[in-house]
Amino acid sequence: MIYFDNNSTTPMAPEVAAAVFEASARFGNASSVHGYGREARRLINESRETIARCLKVNEATITFTSGGTESLNAAMLGVFLPLQGPRHLIVSRVEHSAVLKTAEFLESLGVEVSYLGVDAEGRLEADAVEAALKPHTKMIAVMFANNETGNLYPVKRIGESARGRGIPYLCDAVQAVGRFEIDLSLLPIDLLAASAHKFHGPKGVGFLYGRKEVELTPLIHGGRQERGHRAGTENLPGIVGMAKALELAQGRLFEDLRKVSRLRDRLQAGLLEKIPGIEWNGDVEHRVAGTLNFRVTGVSGETLLMNLDMAGIAVSVGAACDSGSLEPSHVLLAMGLDEERALEGVRVSLSRYNTEAEVEEFLRVFPGLVSKIRAAA
Ligand SMILES: *Cc1c(COP(=O)(O)O)cnc(C)c1O
Repeated sequence: MIYFDNNSTTPMAPEVAAAVFEASARFGNASSVHGYGREARRLINESRETIARCLKVNEATITFTSGGTESLNAAMLGVFLPLQGPRHLIVSRVEHSAVLKTAEFLESLGVEVSYLGVDAEGRLEADAVEAALKPHTKMIAVMFANNETGNLYPVKRIGESARGRGIPYLCDAVQAVGRFEIDLSLLPIDLLAASAHKFHGPKGVGFLYGRKEVELTPLIHGGRQERGHRAGTENLPGIVGMAKALELAQGRLFEDLRKVSRLRDRLQAGLLEKIPGIEWNGDVEHRVAGTLNFRVTGVSGETLLMNLDMAGIAVSVGAACDSGSLEPSHVLLAMGLDEERALEGVRVSLSRYNTEAEVEEFLRVFPGLVSKIRAAA
């Protein structure tokens, strides 16, 4: 079996699985005052320190959550829910559904939302964000790296124009944390969302970084955990595992980046050589190392995915399957592809655990599948 779907989720690193297992035995409630509780509290504090150190921020800015989706909801709803009067939000059209659906929800509550388009390569310039600003803009949300195309966005320039105007900048960095050096003491990001299972950590845990200048109304009410920002007994094994996963990723960032880039380049060159009519989706100049999104003219992505799956290779189509009907990817549509072209999109996403042998196996199997599908059609 070959796993080439690492932008959906990543396998837990063995060191992380060991840390999660060990932390699972520390069953104390971190809010208890006895020894069991103090031990749990110590582990949570240490995990927060580790994550804060990796991002070069104060640990009081890190709130643990159940993952990327909750962090993004907590940031967007946390800013907008207490606001009255004219309120405006700027988001890009290529954001993850956790941002887009939350923007739609805010729209239903009377928030004005501007959806910024992208060009044919999925690019968005910081000037477009600037042009969309209004006197009552209360948040800008543009992601760090796109989960479907791997495109990187001009985070620094967007952040600078937001910071200059005192508008909170929310960055969905779920595809970037653990893959890039992210120094939040230098980057003008006010709110940043991350998810452990995208960097070889456990599922169901993530964090929200928030500068102390940004007022956030809590979403989840109850106990006083997370300085009152997020009530509920902490997911201790998850939090410990996430800190371990980030520390591990951070320690081998450049090594992993080099390896994954090399594998992706080999895959891209091999596909170009062997598949007539292949096209790349996204910005091949500015993208994360491990992502390759392509389409094979006249062949549906879903058919390719199912044939690859039967051959033991897991990839993804940038589309959500709602009740049996396949929707074209909103990211590819935003790039101007028509529905038919958008349904051809296939995403291969690699991680440090993929190997050259797997890439060669993919390149050996794939051309035959394409010929077979084309012959049948
Ligand atoms: C996976 C992902 C999310 C959602 O994170 P979860 O932890 O799965 O809720 C949000 N944004 C991006 C870019 C993602 O890739």
